[in-house]
Amino acid sequence: MELHNGKLFWEEITEDIEMVKTDSHPKNRYDIIIIGGGMSGALSGYILAKEGSKIAIIDKQKMGTGSTLANTGLLQYSNDMMLSQLIEKIGKDKAVRFYQLCREAMDQLRAVAKEIGSQADFLNRSSFYYASEESHVDLLKAEYQALSENGFEVEYLSEEDIREQYPFTKPAALRTHGDAEVNPFSFNRDILAELSKKENVDLFENVEVIETKEMEDNVEILTSKGIFKAEHIIFATGYNKSLSFPGVAPEINRSYAIATEPIADLTPWKDREMIWETKRPYLYLRTTADGRIIAGGLDEEKPHAPKKERTIEDHAKELQEKVQALFPMFNTEIAYSWGAVFGESADGLPFIGRLPNKERTYCLLGYGGNGTVYSMLGAHILRDIITGKHNPDAEIVQLNRNRN
Ligand SMILES: Cc1cc2nc3c(=O)[nH]c(=O)nc-3n(C[C@H](O)[C@H](O)[C@H](O)COP(=O)(O)OP(=O)(O)OC[C@H]3O[C@@H](n4cnc5c(N)ncnc54)[C@H](O)[C@@H]3O)c2cc1C
Repeated sequence: MELHNGKLFWEEITEDIEMVKTDSHPKNRYDIIIIGGGMSGALSGYILAKEGSKIAIIDKQKMGTGSTLANTGLLQYSNDMMLSQLIEKIGKDKAVRFYQLCREAMDQLRAVAKEIGSQADFLNRSSFYYASEESHVDLLKAEYQALSENGFEVEYLSEEDIREQYPFTKPAALRTHGDAEVNPFSFNRDILAELSKKENVDLFENVEVIETKEMEDNVEILTSKGIFKAEHIIFATGYNKSLSFPGVAPEINRSYAIATEPIADLTPWKDREMIWETKRPYLYLRTTADGRIIAGGLDEEKPHAPKKERTIEDHAKELQEKVQALFPMFNTEIAYSWGAVFGESADGLPFIGRLPNKERTYCLLGYGGNGTVYSMLGAHILRDIITGKHNPDAEIVQLNRNRN
């Protein structure tokens, strides 16, 4: 399944780092095999390797070149489903706890970046979430209340506040803190490079997993390069439609993104906040360390990446116009544009946990706009499940939860 098409950005600006690669043949039995070496596989490998488990990560292609490469790199604890809406959907306790988990995951991501000395331009940012239209102001007020009542630092900005601080006006906005931006491909490769130095981790690229079979005391993994064996396996296979799991009901759509040429002076962009809006599908934009603007959105209900160059170009122009409407003073020449499949769930939460009716098989599928944050929190939940530690939060994101 093609995950993306077009001229993608991150690999172009990322120096290919040296990674100790394992040859492509199965070794001895592993404690844990992670299938997929994108952001979810790398982060879960990083957390699990700390437990001393013997781990292999297997990927059918160069790790990080799946959806991780199409990722626009906004790391936010606020979700596509606002806290106020999530409370209505799954109840206050679970919803607030989920938002807390996302905020904790932000700190955990920062810690990982620091521990490995990542060169991935991991920069702390605030987020600016504006009301797309007058009728959404009440939504924002409800969200402001839900966030502030439950201990999340948030500011409410009126139309006048916005006019004073930004080159555009909007009916209202929220500003939240504690988020970050990153070059996701570089971050992914940095984590893998760190893992490749560890004695208890093997990395296998260009090895496709064809079938897995749970036996009584292990799992057999049939791959294009032979049979691997492990006590536990984790599917961190992203938006791969050809693999389906009981209890996982994703909605696969597609989305578009652009990166501009570097812009000489970004001063009018207050604190280079990450900007997004209440409309669905939403427009979102951020800046990069080298002074570009990345913008994304225009999601479509089509379960495959756009094939035609023209389709990507047309959507790129539309994104450019939207950026230009907010910041008319910038020269937003498009340097990169791409379209990619994008997985979501009905309740806005990721699918993380043990597969129903299995003992040794797990999923880490961070569907949703906050996939990276979900991968981080999921890595901790899976670590606890696999090591037999009770994790009371596991239930919130478990498979088979049957919420619509
Ligand atoms: C346009 C776009 C913008 C996004 N923006 C953001 C954002 O701003 N912030 C954010 O947090 N998230 C964002 N996301 C989501 C983010 O990209 C995903 O959450 C993340 O990349 C998922 O990582 P992953 O490791 O699960 O998947 P992937 O990166 O796709 O990795 C899965 C890996 O599994 C491998 N694999 C699959 N099947 C097999 C098999 N049978 N055998 C061996 N290997 C296999 C694949 O080769 C692949 O490398 C965005 C996504 C898109 C498409």
